[in-house]
Order: sequence, then structure tokens, then C-alpha cells
Amino acid sequence: SSRWSLKGMTALVTGGTRGIGHAIVEDLCGFGATVHTCSRNQAELDNCLNQWRSKGFLVSGSVCDVSSRDQREKLIHEVTPIFNGKLHIYVNNVGANFRKPTIEYTAEVYSEIMAINLDSAYHLCQLTHPLLKASGMGSIVFISSISGVVSLGTGSVYAASKAAINQLTKNLACEWAKDGVRSNCVVPATTNTPLVEHLLRDKQYVDEMLSRTPLGRIAEAQEVSSLVAFLCLPAASYITGQVICVDGGLTVNGFQ
Ligand code: NDP
Repeated sequence: SSRWSLKGMTALVTGGTRGIGHAIVEDLCGFGATVHTCSRNQAELDNCLNQWRSKGFLVSGSVCDVSSRDQREKLIHEVTPIFNGKLHIYVNNVGANFRKPTIEYTAEVYSEIMAINLDSAYHLCQLTHPLLKASGMGSIVFISSISGVVSLGTGSVYAASKAAINQLTKNLACEWAKDGVRSNCVVPATTNTPLVEHLLRDKQYVDEMLSRTPLGRIAEAQEVSSLVAFLCLPAASYITGQVICVDGGLTVNGFQ
């Protein structure tokens, strides 16, 4: 039924060429949405677009570094005519992390992490708002991290940027409900993607993570993208302002 379909809907997903973003593009297309995505690498983007089109997906893409204000504006100028000014779904997926103890962060690295994770998300919500409103049933989904919910040791700047995203989710849900726009946040724990390849080779890191994870394994990207797709479906029309962990139970695990 139409409750379980995204047919006729339009979606913008940032960072769709690898990892969680790639799985999100495939799930949204699989439910029938028309998707536009971006990344910084033209060759990798073209390769993904070719593969998706051969599967029959309705998908387009542009090169954009979302940490640049000018490039964000350019991206939305490109997307507006493609979708006739109407965007049903905006997925804020791009994020980056450089792990260090707090006292070792330079001002430059602090600003870089905040620019990629928080400034870009905030500005892209401002830019997509008129398009989401015009669709009559807009849905924003942020990709945060359990680092913004519990302490994972190092990476306090990343953690602070993700915690800010969690609260932004709630503010936009309240502020933009009158515009027919819902806002929710998907919060992954460690997920098998290129971003954390180096961490997944670190046995001590993986063992410690798994010792805190009731399901006892690392997530696959599709286990995160499925919740993103659900939150965009008409079936989720009464869900807004929610920050939902996809974490194998890590954040609810108490003393053992
Ligand atoms: P990956 O590094 O595997 O993929 C990131 C994607 O975003 C790529 O397509 C990349 O392409 C693109 N990208 C990166 N930076 C930019 C940029 N500045 N502008 C445009 N595109 C960009 O990341 P994940 O899939 O692992 O992470 C996705 C989200 O999930 C992030 O917000 C991350 O914080 C979050 N997350 C991930 C976890 C994990 O364990 N993997 C755990 C918790 C949260 P390119 O580099 O070519 O631009």
C-alpha cells in the first residue's frame, strides 16, 4: 500500500558513495523514491550512479564538499530544478571524526570537525527548508552517533557535534511541524564502513566495543539505512523529534 512506499517522492542524501549513505540511497530507491546524492569524488560518484542506474534506480548526483558554504548553496541550486522545487526527504549523512584526547585538539581540527558535522547540517537544513515545506510532507533524517549519547573515551569534539545534532533534531521537529516537516535522528554504533576500517582492524577497540554490545557484533550499513527509510515512509507520519539508536543495545547496557 502507499503507506509502505516512497513512489513519487524526492530525496537528497549527502555522502552517498560509500558506507551508510550508500545503503540509504539504495533503500530509498528500493522503496521507489527519486534520489539525488553528493560526494567529493567525481569518479567514485559516476561509478555509483552507473551501477544504480543499471539496477533501474532513479538517481542523480553532484560533486559537493558539504563543509563549504558556497558548495552547499550550489548543491541546492542544482537540486531545486531537478525536483521542481519539492523535496520530500533530506538525509544529513556526512560526518567525520579525528580521535584524540581533548587537550590535544588544535583550533584547526576542532573547527574542521564542527564544520563538517554541525555547520554543514545546520546550513543544509536552512537551505532545504523551503523545498521540504513545498513538498507538503517533508522528512529530515540526521545521522548522528552513539558518541553523542554515551562517552566512548576519545573523540570529544565529534561527540559534542553529534550531541548538538541530537538536540537540533528536536528543535526542528517543533519549529517546522507547522510546515509539514518531520525531523528525526538515527544514531548508529560502530558500523562496518570505510570510515572505521582502521578501527575494525584494532582488536582491542573491537573487543571493548563488543564487550559493551548485547548483540555481540558490529552493525552492517543496511541495518542502519533500514531505519532511515522507515522514518521517511508515510507509515512513520506520526513520528517526529525522535533520536533512535541502532546500536545492538550498547547504550542501554548497564553493569554486567
Ligand atoms: P564513510 O566515510 O564510509 O562514507 C562517507 C561518505 O560521505 C562517502 O560517500 C564520502 O565520499 C562522503 N563524504 C565525506 N565527507 C564529505 C564532504 N565533506 N562532503 C561531501 N561528501 C562527503 O562514512 P560512514 O558511512 O561510516 O558514516 C556516515 C555517517 O554515519 C557519518 O555522519 C558518521 O559520523 C556516522 N556514523 C558512522 C559510524 C560508523 O561506525 N561507521 C558510527 C556512528 C555514526 P567522499 O569522501 O568521496 O566525499
